[in-house]
Amino acid sequence: MKSVRIVLLVAGLVALSTACGSSGASTSFEPGKLKVAVSLYPIEEIVRAVGGSQVSLVELIPPGEPAHDYEPTPRQVTELQSADVVFYFGGGFQPSVEKAVASLPDSVRKVDLLKSVELIAVSKQLAGTEGEVDGEVLGDGSDPHVWLSPTNMQLMVEQVRATLVTFPSFDAPDAADGAASFTSMLAKLDADFRSGLASCASRVIVTAHRAFGYVAHDYNLEQIAIAGVSPTDEPSAKTLEAISRSAQDHKVTTIYFETNLPAELSKMIADEIGAATEVLDTIETLSSDQIASGADYVSLMQSNLAALEKGLACS
Ligand SMILES: [Zn+2]
Repeated sequence: MKSVRIVLLVAGLVALSTACGSSGASTSFEPGKLKVAVSLYPIEEIVRAVGGSQVSLVELIPPGEPAHDYEPTPRQVTELQSADVVFYFGGGFQPSVEKAVASLPDSVRKVDLLKSVELIAVSKQLAGTEGEVDGEVLGDGSDPHVWLSPTNMQLMVEQVRATLVTFPSFDAPDAADGAASFTSMLAKLDADFRSGLASCASRVIVTAHRAFGYVAHDYNLEQIAIAGVSPTDEPSAKTLEAISRSAQDHKVTTIYFETNLPAELSKMIADEIGAATEVLDTIETLSSDQIASGADYVSLMQSNLAALEKGLACS
């Protein structure tokens, strides 16, 4: 009997060391802490701000991986089953993640953060580019990119705080402090966007995929998106032509591309109409370089603001 136990113990240690040595964003939950899993980088940052050292956090998406089509690994699904709470975005944003979340036992609290904000419909394209993106659902459904609004981020901070403090082990005053300090940074960010984008020569942004509906909504801009709500909804040649024409009609001088997406289409349109290119980051996932350089939600949004002020000639 004793030797069997030793074999089991050794097998367990091997399994543990394999788990710790594996690559990817996920790490095993630490014992003695609230086990929280999140499906996207901005939620990770909220949970860290509110939960601090009281939570052990697992992020499903490895650095730089596309977020929309991400499929959790079997190991991640197993790990999710032992979580206390999972924060994610529903509404078809990450279908495979949603399916994995739906399969979890009742012991795991599942919180769809889309439900804590006021959703806007997927924004229609400007005249001349309407409805021409192949295979895309237009105006049918809500835009899931809610975190690109600092105001929405504040609402999600409150939802995360309210959820975490329902766990008896959780220190509520500590969570309130963390939430308050992140919320005040987000309020300042929102104020910076409001003043920075108040007076601009143009209010039309041409983006790589339709991720900036909330930025457009909050700060009174109009978005022309090259790809659809998901970057895999690629435009036809006819749509690209229409986007170029519309961009020219609106005297667009800058075409935006994304760090984690191929930039060819944005650059092609920019070349065609003699515009410059700038990066707008969707903050769906951070690249390894961004993580190494200490970038975070607020710093990336400040870079987005600077790129918008430059591209729209704001004063
Ligand atoms: Zn997206």
